[in-house]
Amino acid sequence: IEMPVFEALNVETLPLRLGQNTMLLQRLGEDWGSWKVREVGDGNLNLVFIVEGSAGSAIVKQALPYVRLVGESWPLPLKRSFFEYHALTRQAARDPGRVPEVFHFDGEQAIIVMEFLAPHIILRRGLIEGNQYPNAARDLGQFLARTLFRGSDFSMKAAARKADVALFADNVELCDITESLVFSDPYFNAPLNRHTAPQLDGLVAALRADRDLKVEAQRLKHLFATKAEALLHGDLHTGSVMVTPGETRVIDPEFAFYGPIAFDVGMLLANFWMNYLAQQGHERDDNRRDMRGYLLEAVVTIWETFRSEFSHLWRTERSGILYQRALFEDQDDSLGAEQALDEVLHDIWQDMLGFAGIEMHRRILGLAHNADFELIEDPDLRARCETKALKFGRHLACNRRHIHSLAEVNGLVERLE
Ligand code: ADP
Ligand code: MG
Ligand code: MG
Ligand code: MG
Repeated sequence: IEMPVFEALNVETLPLRLGQNTMLLQRLGEDWGSWKVREVGDGNLNLVFIVEGSAGSAIVKQALPYVRLVGESWPLPLKRSFFEYHALTRQAARDPGRVPEVFHFDGEQAIIVMEFLAPHIILRRGLIEGNQYPNAARDLGQFLARTLFRGSDFSMKAAARKADVALFADNVELCDITESLVFSDPYFNAPLNRHTAPQLDGLVAALRADRDLKVEAQRLKHLFATKAEALLHGDLHTGSVMVTPGETRVIDPEFAFYGPIAFDVGMLLANFWMNYLAQQGHERDDNRRDMRGYLLEAVVTIWETFRSEFSHLWRTERSGILYQRALFEDQDDSLGAEQALDEVLHDIWQDMLGFAGIEMHRRILGLAHNADFELIEDPDLRARCETKALKFGRHLACNRRHIHSLAEVNGLVERLE
């Protein structure tokens, strides 16, 4: 038997290799010889092609056996495509319409064929340009609550959840990336680190010498590695969100695994705060004051929507092994269920702030920087923005147990500006 051998696609071979697939022929049109193919991947890891035929279009995403950003010297298994596919199907069931529809999956070739989102653009890009998206925050807050609540022991049947924990536990290498790049590398002289130098050298040295910060970062890593609470997206930053003025979609869940709910929430909010702190580097003649207000409001809306939707699901869909209704509502003690909800949300709140702080550090000190700061050409100006984010991140990580409201946090961000 001939073993199927992995082969990376390119714009020439894609129609030859996928032109036999009946699903695709139906979507794109039978004349596969005239499909138009473009490679558009701007991510750190994978190949992404837009394929357009006479009848329609699709995205073809293929994993490579290495990290695209670094090259073949950093191998990374193809199975991340399998986890992305399975995460997409679960997210589609838990928050319908929020992720691209999957048309086809080929595990051996690590290919996912999915809905081409157009004219959507990456949210991060839009925010850098100063565009506001009135529905995005509400949509993202709902996505967080629905995928995380419905992907947890609050809701799932025990056997289904345990089988799923086992399935995603094999996403070892992508978890390892987060464990190293997010939680540890920024706090020592790791080989893949880089930062705006020499401007940030002093602050970088101070952060690496900051015992309290390093202990907090490791406590958060401890949570990340051990708290298998819900199926996470795992990479939910503003570069994993695509938008039009009215629509919001979430892509790229290849880092999915069972981890702490607060991780997805904190990463997302951190990326809004970083965009806020980068605005100074992008405003030209346009005044970005409205934009700054919009960004801080968006943070509040994401969190408040998350809270209220999570609470709604707690009251209406709490059917898992935790906090059973038999203990509370069924004994006419709905306040007991509310008390438990407050405890759960309080833990998420404190941990979310910590994860947000650490996310800001790794984006400025680690390997994977974000465009919000990277696109600020003047290194002095960039460093001024990054300095605020680093100090803010340190504050969140170390003081998270004493911070009581987003109004307080947003006030802090405004005073940094
Ligand atoms: P990576 O895992 O390498 O980060 P992504 O899934 O984030 O790859 O995709 C990289 C880029 O490809 C995105 O930033 C976006 O521009 C484009 N892209 C990915 N999926 C879609 C899609 N379903 N529709 C439209 N564009 C997409
Ligand atoms: Mg991506
Ligand atoms: Mg990715
Ligand atoms: Mg309450």
